[in-house]
Amino acid sequence: MTPRYLISFEQASAHYFDVQLLAHSDHLEAQLVSLPAWLPGSYMIRDFARHIIELKAYCGEMELEIEQVDKQTWRLEPAQGELKLCYRVYAWDLSVRAAHLDKLHGFFNPSSLCLQLESQSHLPHQIEIQLPEWAQQDAWCVATGMPAKAVDDAGVGLYEAEDYDALLDYPFEMGTFSEAGFEAGGVPHRMIYTGANRAALGRIAADVQKICEYQCDLFGGAPFEHYLFMTMVVGSGYGGLEHRNSTALLCSRKDLLTRPDAPQNEDYRNFLGLCSHEYFHSWNVKRIQPKEFQPFDLSEEQYTRQLWAYEGITSYYDELCLRRCEVVSNADYLEMLGKTLSRVSRGLGQSRQTVSDSSFNAWSKFYKQDENAPNAIVSYYTKGAEIALCLDLLLRLHSSHQVTLDDVMRKLWLQHGATGQGTDTDTVHKYCVELLTPHKEDAPALMAFFFHTALETTEELPTADLLECMGVRYQLRPPFSASDKGGKRPKGVPGNALGATVVADSAGVKLRTLFEGEAAEQAGLASGDLIVAIGRTKVSNGNYQQVLNEFVPGQVVEVHAFRHEQLLTLKLTISQPTPTLVELELFDEELAQPWLTGQPIQE
Ligand code: ZN
Repeated sequence: MTPRYLISFEQASAHYFDVQLLAHSDHLEAQLVSLPAWLPGSYMIRDFARHIIELKAYCGEMELEIEQVDKQTWRLEPAQGELKLCYRVYAWDLSVRAAHLDKLHGFFNPSSLCLQLESQSHLPHQIEIQLPEWAQQDAWCVATGMPAKAVDDAGVGLYEAEDYDALLDYPFEMGTFSEAGFEAGGVPHRMIYTGANRAALGRIAADVQKICEYQCDLFGGAPFEHYLFMTMVVGSGYGGLEHRNSTALLCSRKDLLTRPDAPQNEDYRNFLGLCSHEYFHSWNVKRIQPKEFQPFDLSEEQYTRQLWAYEGITSYYDELCLRRCEVVSNADYLEMLGKTLSRVSRGLGQSRQTVSDSSFNAWSKFYKQDENAPNAIVSYYTKGAEIALCLDLLLRLHSSHQVTLDDVMRKLWLQHGATGQGTDTDTVHKYCVELLTPHKEDAPALMAFFFHTALETTEELPTADLLECMGVRYQLRPPFSASDKGGKRPKGVPGNALGATVVADSAGVKLRTLFEGEAAEQAGLASGDLIVAIGRTKVSNGNYQQVLNEFVPGQVVEVHAFRHEQLLTLKLTISQPTPTLVELELFDEELAQPWLTGQPIQE
């Protein structure tokens, strides 16, 4: 018998999913049941099992004893025949990584809800959604990428995955949807949204369609039969998680354009970038995979040094695709890229951690960032994107655009994605050498030097020089304010710098990250300090920059702040910001054209 999960949620207002797992034990044996500690794509131990309550097991009418083995595993009393496990799962995590439920919508990853019967994980697994009466009255629908077995028009009913591992890769969304659809790569795509919104769904779908079409063309076709974008629209939030034929997204209401003819803005471009990112993962990480993840061991941390290639290359392409499919302009693309590069250059972390170490330590560092992270670690997303950019430009430069990162991606797809064979730490390096050698004899030495420098050292990348060769000027400029993220230079002149990021506080200015060596840190301030006065003038979020600007660089002024409700008087040396943000400017469009458009140059 196929293990089947009956999922209902009568008590949604208390955020409980009710789960019954029905299965059959052919022999008299003790079954182990467990839940994953993490889920692929999000490299942090999350201990989903901590949300299980009231676990009971039965064989026929007989209740079985359950012995807990560890934080996420239980052993059932030996039994033979029809097994039934009943339990509840508390679901109030508004992210794309776990489960969330109330009377407005329901979302779950099976890794949060579906206990694994370890002896049966190779069998097909079914999920049956049973809507409580109130949800039927509210006309709830169900959406998932999981193949449907017997469902009604609203998607309510029975779904089946080929085995337990596959089951984990199909999140479910339930509620009343707004939606739009389109075709790309010859297969249907559906975009569903929960959460009140007035989004211009058709306009958004038309933009996303171009992105999907471009990526399908890049890899030579869609690797699935249908695709689903599931978006939870909230007041403030951002995130996404990739799956084999779907993605779960979280966005802020302001990210979605509300009029079909509205001009694009930065928030909307970021949403398109998120869709593009998760869709690109359909190839790069869902099918082309690090060898270390084959198979996944979801019971504990699984280490790899390859995340720069999976998240970094994906981060490079997520923005580049928007330009390549003409959803954004050259200027908008370079603005986005400038911001990505600024996130690498802004802190000292890039000079203290290699991207290879960043990947390896994702579990305890990248995913557990504290206020000091910009001073201590580098992101394998942003530094990885910078490496991908350099690699693309390096290949183009030494082959007159005959070899590009697109070729490397296609080779990765054919050799690994299409075959299921995992990649090694040096696979991308190896393919770059293979592809470039016919055009440049010393490609092996060139690539050996580049890959060593980029992955294993903290030395500066040749980004500025390579961009210059492509008609784009790379310049470092000072931050104009604490909220300046880089890219285009704001109007006016940069003010004096606090050298810290701040969070809004009604009583003054609350410090978050203090950049090492900069003004606030030098003055003896600390993260969490609440600055109430600078130079004896009361400050707020609204005026502190203006107050700082009233002084002359080099001047020493008193700063008053509370730490643990204790008043401190410190001396702040007024200083001008150092150039740590990246600004990009296109100075030769013709030179940049082959890279920005991705079109081969005409001989
Ligand atoms: Zn990603």
